[in-house]
Order: sequence, then C-alpha cells, then structure tokens
Amino acid sequence: MAHIVFPFDNSYARDLPGFYAPCPPATVDSPTLLFLNRSLAEELGLDLAHQDDTALAALFSGNRLPQGAQPIAQAYAGHQFGQFSPQLGDGRALLIGEVIDVHGQRRDIAFKGSGRTPFSRRGDGKAAVGPMLREVLLGEAMHALGIPTTRALAVVATGEPVYRERVLPGAILTRVAASHLRVGTFQYFMAHGSPHQVRQLADYAMARHFPRTRQAENPYLAFLGAVAERQAALIALWMHVGFIHGVMNTDNMAIPGETIDYGPCAFMETFDPAAVFSSIDGQGRYAYAEQPRIARWNLARLAECLLPLIDTGEGHAITLATEVIDAFPERYRQHWLAGLRAKLGLADTGSHGDGMDAALGEGWLDLLHAQQVDYTLAWRHLADAAAGDETPLRALFPGQPGLERWLQRWRERCASEDVGNDRAAARAQAMRQVNPWIIPRNQRVEEALEAASDHGDLKPFESLLHALRRPYDTDPALAVYAQPAGTDFMAEFRTYCGT
Ligand code: AMP
Ligand code: MG
Repeated sequence: MAHIVFPFDNSYARDLPGFYAPCPPATVDSPTLLFLNRSLAEELGLDLAHQDDTALAALFSGNRLPQGAQPIAQAYAGHQFGQFSPQLGDGRALLIGEVIDVHGQRRDIAFKGSGRTPFSRRGDGKAAVGPMLREVLLGEAMHALGIPTTRALAVVATGEPVYRERVLPGAILTRVAASHLRVGTFQYFMAHGSPHQVRQLADYAMARHFPRTRQAENPYLAFLGAVAERQAALIALWMHVGFIHGVMNTDNMAIPGETIDYGPCAFMETFDPAAVFSSIDGQGRYAYAEQPRIARWNLARLAECLLPLIDTGEGHAITLATEVIDAFPERYRQHWLAGLRAKLGLADTGSHGDGMDAALGEGWLDLLHAQQVDYTLAWRHLADAAAGDETPLRALFPGQPGLERWLQRWRERCASEDVGNDRAAARAQAMRQVNPWIIPRNQRVEEALEAASDHGDLKPFESLLHALRRPYDTDPALAVYAQPAGTDFMAEFRTYCGT
C-alpha cells in the first residue's frame, strides 16, 4: 500500500509557538470507515483513490498519521451563554495540519473525538457516531445551500464505547475549515497572554484571511470590520434558510466567517422567531431571531481584545471600535434585504426603497408565524405561485384572507419591475434557485442517525446525504425528504451538544 501523502504546510504550528500544545491522537482498537467525502478530498488535492477502506480507517482514526502531520491542540477561551470561561481549548479535537487546496486556499484538517488533550479538563476527549454523522449531514447541507461552513472529510467508527447518558459507539470526525481561529482564541490570549501575543494572532489572522486589511490606514480596525462583514453575511444566510446554530458562544464563532461546530443546531420547520431546540438553552439566548443580536455581542467581545491594537489611547480606541460594532445591525440588514429580495423573486431594488421591500418580507413572515406554516415549503410554493400555480401555497395556509391580501401586495411589487414583460417563468426559476426544496428535516436526520448509531445501518444516512446535496432540484423521488415532521415529533424534539 502506497504511503498516503498530504501536502502539509503547517503555518499555525510554525508561526505561532506558544499558542497550542503538541499532542498525539489516541490510538483506537478497530477503526472502520463510515464516511469519506471524495469530492472534498479531491478539492484538497489528496489522492485517496487507491487506498482501501482499511488504510483509510487507519488514517482517519489517527492510528497512522500521514507524513508531515503535526497534531496540536489549540488554546482558546470563550463566553459560554454569556459567562466567560478563560480556559477552553481543543479538549477533544486536534489540528493535524494545513494543506493548500486546488483553489489555492489554505485549509485546516482537524480531528474531533481523537482523545484527551491538555485542554480536556474533565472530558474524555471522545465523540460518538450519531453527533459526528450529524455534523456531516448538517455541514454538507449548508455547503450545498451555498453557506460558508466547515466540512466533514471523513468519519471513522472507533470500535470503542463512549459513555454518555447511555453507552454509544465512538467515532472520530475529520473536519476541514478555512481555519479554526475563533473569537475565543483572541480572548484566551487577552486573558492569559501578553499584548504582543494578541498582536501576533491578529497579524496571523489578517495575513491568512483578510490580507487587504493590512494596507488599511488602521489595519486592526479594518480587521474588526472585515470579520464583522463576514458575520453579517453569514447570519443573513442562516436566517434565510431557517438555520438555528444553537450554541453561538464566542468560541464557536469562526474568524473566517464559516459556520462551525454543529452541536445542538437544527433547521426550523414551522416558522417561529422564538424557535430554539437546544436542550441546554432554556432561556432562548440563541433562539432563531436572536442570532443577529448575538453575533453583534460576540463581535464586541472580539473588539475588546483588539482595543490596544486599534489605538494606544483607550478612549479613542473604544470610540473607533464602537462605530464598527454599532454599524453591524445595518450591515446585517443589507445582507438580509438582498437575500430577501432574491427569495421574493425581486430582481431590482424597486422605486420605493428598502423600507417597502422589508415591510413586504416582514408581512410575509408575520403571516407564516400567525398561521404556523412550514418555513421552507412556504417559500418554495411561493415560487410555484410566481409560475402561476397558487394551489400548493394555499394548501399551506389554514386561514386564507391574510394570504390573499399579502399575495396582492407581492404581485403588485413584482409587476412594478416587469413593465411590459412577462417574467413569470424566469422569476419562478430564479426563486427555485434560492428557496430550497430540501433541507435537513429533523425527523429524517434523527431516523438516519438512529439507524447508523443503534443498528449499524448506514443506508438511511447515505440516502439523506444524497438528497441534501441537491437542495434546489424538484425531484419527485426525493419528496419524502421535503416533508415537515409531524407535530408530535416536533413537540418532543430537542438537540444536544455534540459531547
Ligand atoms: P463545544 O460545546 O463542543 O463547543 O465545546 C466546548 C468546550 O468543551 C471545548 O473546549 C471542547 O473542546 C470541550 N469539550 C467538549 N466535549 C468534550 C469532551 N468529550 N472531552 C473533552 N473536552 C470536551
Ligand atoms: Mg466549540
């Protein structure tokens, strides 16, 4: 068997000594490969085509690390549900190295569930099959929806038990990320390190993710603005597909603006701004509609770390950083509005300005909320209505007068940009490219994970993954994946942190 070669170039380990602890992965008893993302492997420039499953399982369990791997546990801190934890870090994850992908982008390759590290505290450093396959499904769904996200490269079952509320089969996920820099990484070095280390980290993050900010008049302020801009874009995308992250702690907010850490996350089904599924979020801090506000709060925590770099005069630094943080809601709103127009089938900004389109969108969402309509299907059937078939849309709404009034407003707004042209078909087609038919339906996800975890049956997982990779196709063969869960199921549905 040819030795597997990863073209590693480990900049974090090389450039940031003192920011991590070297740590080998634990070896495992009898690894078996559950999932391999071949198209992602190709994108990373990894040649895995000639490896059999035994070799791949040895590789992705950490039993046989590829040449050039430098496993390290990264240090980070974080605000968890508003409380500062100065010492978190990779307690069950390891960065094994970085590669430059075929597009020239630097990507982290990391294990999750690979054993204890110096940051494990009382944790066992392990992960279970269900939550790791959940990360595959949700992450690949997000990727197919065009939303920046970390991605799963492989999942291996370890053959070892993991002790939680009950005994679960253990697993290791291999995760690919633009980087694992978090708001919490900065917080760690502000709390424990020297101002010099915060600067080193910022310089590294800027060179890697935001090279243009280095030429700005005030580079660190520009860096804060660039991170905020990516978060504004990301959260708007989440909101438009009904994604609820569930645990938006500062250690789970990635500096490059990818969705990271698929723990107790879920896609909303019936529209409800207060929706929260996480078993640990009793107060609804991370509810659907709170996400933009929380992103801003997290960015303010990043700003605090950067103050000494922004200006040597603290008062002036605070003034400058506050301007950036205060601009976040408007930045977010612009991203949200652009996405909203696309979802509504509007091609231009209209003659009545942003306010009218925002009100049209908000009126629609109020209607979905009041009549407890499935968020994804409502949008998808609005595309059918654009094509002239209003029947599927009407079927979703029990009380119709509100819908009629709203549809009338929407048709008029559409007509305002169609003067002299019949754009119905083009509009419907454009709407179907931004309003998915298939999202990870909670009942389907749970069924797939139960089959894999409790019965070793990967078929439901594989079929669901196949469907999630084609979210915009109306393929009748996939109809079962487009159905909302029953109300009984959703009443009981809770998501758990991936521990
Ligand atoms: P999370 O809630 O998954 O974002 O993790 C929060 C913190 O807990 C991070 O420092 C993790 O590394 C750590 N952690 C979570 N699960 C475990 C585990 N099973 N063993 C050790 N550390 C863990
Ligand atoms: Mg985390």
